[in-house]
Amino acid sequence: MIETPTQTKNQTFDLLNFEDTLEKIKSQAIWSEHDPEGLKKEFQWLKESGALKIVLPGEALDFNQPNMPELLNLLKAVGKANLSVGRIFEGHINTLYLIHLYANAQQKKEWYQGVQDQGHLFGVWNTQAQNGIQFYPEADQFKISGSKTFCSGVGIVDRALITGNIDYTDRKGWQMAIVDMSGISEQNIDKNSWKPLGMQASGSYTVDFSGYLLDESDLISRPGIYLNQPYFSGGAIRFAAVHLGGAEAIAENTIEYLLSLNRTEDPIQRLRLSNIMMQLVSGRLWLEKAGQHYDEWADDKTHEQDLIAFANMTRVTIEDICLRIMDESNKCIGARGLMAPYDMERIFRDLTFYLRQPAPDATRLNVADFFIKKQQTGHESNI
Ligand SMILES: Cc1cc2nc3c(=O)[nH]c(=O)nc-3n(C[C@H](O)[C@H](O)[C@H](O)COP(=O)(O)OP(=O)(O)OC[C@H]3O[C@@H](n4cnc5c(N)ncnc54)[C@H](O)[C@@H]3O)c2cc1C
Repeated sequence: MIETPTQTKNQTFDLLNFEDTLEKIKSQAIWSEHDPEGLKKEFQWLKESGALKIVLPGEALDFNQPNMPELLNLLKAVGKANLSVGRIFEGHINTLYLIHLYANAQQKKEWYQGVQDQGHLFGVWNTQAQNGIQFYPEADQFKISGSKTFCSGVGIVDRALITGNIDYTDRKGWQMAIVDMSGISEQNIDKNSWKPLGMQASGSYTVDFSGYLLDESDLISRPGIYLNQPYFSGGAIRFAAVHLGGAEAIAENTIEYLLSLNRTEDPIQRLRLSNIMMQLVSGRLWLEKAGQHYDEWADDKTHEQDLIAFANMTRVTIEDICLRIMDESNKCIGARGLMAPYDMERIFRDLTFYLRQPAPDATRLNVADFFIKKQQTGHESNI
C-alpha cells in the first residue's frame, strides 16, 4: 500500500489501479531482466496508469505545488516493485523537473504535450567517459560529437536530456539539450557496454550521439544551469527514495521467507528482523523529513545550504540503511534464500549495484563542512 496523501488530493490519478500496476511490474521482474524488449511492457503499464504525467501542471503531483513527500513515496513504491523500473521512472521525473525549472514556455508546451498525448518517456544522461559530448556549431544548428555512458532506459526512452560542452559566442560551458531518440540509430547503442552485477533490466548502455543535429530550440536555458543549486544536490533524495524501495522489498521478502520456514520464533532471527525494521522505518522518516524540507526550502535562498546538507545526509544515510538491511537479511535467509526463484537473489544484486552513485565520499565530507561552518559562523538552522 502506498502511504500518500495523494489518495485525498488526487482526482486524476487512480491509486487503486496504480497498486495493480505495481503488482504486475513486481511479478514480471523475474522475466524482464532477460527480456530482449527490455522494460517496454512495464512502461506501457505506467503510461496507462497515468504515472508518466503525474508531475505535469494540474496533475496529482504537479511540480508547481509542494508535493515532494508524496513524490518520494511514489518513487519508493516503484523501486520496491522493480529497481530497474524505478531507476528509469526516476530519470523521467528528473527530466520533467529540469524542464519545469529551466525550459522556456514553448519548450514546456511541446515536451509536456509529448508526455500528455503520446506518453513520451524522458531520461537524463549526464555521465560520460573520456569521449564525452561536445556541441559544435554547424550552419544554424549544433552537431553533437561523443558518447554518454550509463544511459538508463535507452531503447524505450523517447526524449533524452543530455549534457555536453559548448563553446560558441556567448554559450560556453555545460549545456543541456533534448535529443529525439528516434533520430539515433540502433547501431549507436553499444549493447556490449552493459554487463553489470545487477540492474541488468535498466539497459543502461553507452550511446554514441555523434552526428545528431540539434536546433537552438532543443537547447535548455544557458550553459552551467544544470549544476544550479540547491536543485542539483537536492535531487539526490529522489534516487534515495527508489533505493529505499528496494530495501523495503528485501525486508518484506525476508519476513515472508522466515514465515514460510516457520523460523520466526527463533530469538536470533527475531533480533535481526527488529534491526531490519528499525533501519527501514528510520529510512522512511529521513525521506519524509527530506521531502518536507525540500518543499519548505527549495525556493528560499536563505535555506539553500540547509537543503543541500539535509539532502546529502538523507542520501548517504539511506545508502547505509540499505547496506545494513541487506547484511541482516543475508544472514536471516542464508544461501537458500539467496537463490532463484526467490526474488531476493535479484533484488540483492540490483540494490548492491544501484547504490553506487556519484561522489559518495565527497557527499559525506560536504556534510562535515556544513556543520563545521554552521558552528563557526553561528548560522541559524534547525538541522
Ligand atoms: C544502475 C545505474 C543506472 C545509472 N543510470 C544513469 C543515467 O541514466 N544517467 C546518468 O547520467 N548516470 C547514470 N548512472 C551513473 C551514476 O550517476 C554514477 O555516475 C555512477 O554510478 C558512479 O559510478 P562509480 O561508482 O563508478 O563512481 P566513481 O566516481 O568511480 O566512484 C567510486 C568510488 O571512488 C571514489 N572516488 C571518486 N573519485 C575519486 C578520486 N578522484 N580519487 C579517489 N577516489 C575517488 C568515490 O567516492 C567512490 O567511493 C547510473 C548508475 C547506475 C549504477
